[in-house]
Amino acid sequence: MKVAVPKETRPGELRVALVPQGVKALAKVGLKIVVETGAGAASGVSDNEYKEAGADVVGSTAEALTGAGIVLRVSPPSISDPDEVSAISRGTILVSFLNPLENQALIRRLSEARISSISMELVPRITRAQSMDALSSQATVAGYKAVLLAADHLPKFLPMFTTAAGTIRPAKVLILGAGVAGLQAIATARRLGAIVEAFDVRPAVKEQVESLGATFLETEADVTAEGEGGYAKELSEEQHKKELELIAGAVVDTDIVITTAQIPGRDAPLLITEEMVKSMRPGSVIVDLASESGGNCAVTKNGETVICEGIQVLGPANLPASIPVHASQMYSKNIVTLVAEFVGENGEVQLDFENDVIGPAMVTHDGQVRNERVRDALEGDAA
Ligand code: NAD
Repeated sequence: MKVAVPKETRPGELRVALVPQGVKALAKVGLKIVVETGAGAASGVSDNEYKEAGADVVGSTAEALTGAGIVLRVSPPSISDPDEVSAISRGTILVSFLNPLENQALIRRLSEARISSISMELVPRITRAQSMDALSSQATVAGYKAVLLAADHLPKFLPMFTTAAGTIRPAKVLILGAGVAGLQAIATARRLGAIVEAFDVRPAVKEQVESLGATFLETEADVTAEGEGGYAKELSEEQHKKELELIAGAVVDTDIVITTAQIPGRDAPLLITEEMVKSMRPGSVIVDLASESGGNCAVTKNGETVICEGIQVLGPANLPASIPVHASQMYSKNIVTLVAEFVGENGEVQLDFENDVIGPAMVTHDGQVRNERVRDALEGDAA
């Protein structure tokens, strides 16, 4: 079975789906890996390293894809100008981020092209599948990088300094949403010496926040919304009002706010109003990691930096791609573990829809949209 790793095409996508270590792991079960030349260049992997790991390196996407039974990507294939789906043969298994709840046109196209697509976003967050969880691995990268970005934009130090030229007070950082990205942001800001506060609507994370050396923002009001599978659900209007009051009280003397709050299948909740932004000290920085799903801050623009009365509001797009070496290494490990769910030890492919990872993560197969949530999203879109 031939496995293709084409060069990523999304502008700014510097990651690659498989690194040489992953090539070796897949070759072990008899898969034949074909990598497009230059696919790993932006992630620090040369064609030679791929060859040494046992892959064939070919000169074009078409050559990589021809005859492939499995295609591994990071970003979803484009369906317009050019239509990259048309280069993938019918019956091929495509493993990639697909953004399937939002990107209905792509899902229709994959279904129509009879491609069996597995969405990295839909790998269930169960203990057994932790090593396949690319949302977590890439959120780790984003949480870390968000703090570095903020530190770079802040016209201040983060740590405390006691020097002959005076004592500098440490910066104050507020992290909203303490999931995978938020916890990594807390850890990174603490390592840089900042004073860190955090808040999340899942009370279970209070202990994790505190164990990283941050303070969990407390309120008398009930601002908790624990959903299914460790995720949050939407707050009631009254609870949301209380949360905004809590945050408004905290941001006024905060130097950096990093927001990571998400609710699966919905727009990101609004946590910072324009008025709150304006209440912050000029020079302060907000990094909105939810910018791709609408943003947690009212003034965020996805992919842009907005200056609002001297406060810098960053809405970085595709942050994991900005640390491509380690983001790719982690993603590759996720992919290799996932592939082992449908490729046996002798390289034979078997798509078992009863498998508790493949079943939920399989979006399209044989002209059908298999995942119920994606089907609902498609029907909603059509209506
Ligand atoms: P996410 O990206 O969906 O959300 C980020 C955070 O935002 C979450 O912690 C959520 O509670 C929080 N949030 C939502 N609305 C909020 C609001 N109004 N105010 C403040 N915070 C708000 O979540 P994620 O980081 O991908 O994962 C969340 C959790 O899921 C993890 O911390 C973990 O408990 C669980 N998880 C489990 C596994 C596993 O067992 N394999 C893997 C990954 C995640």
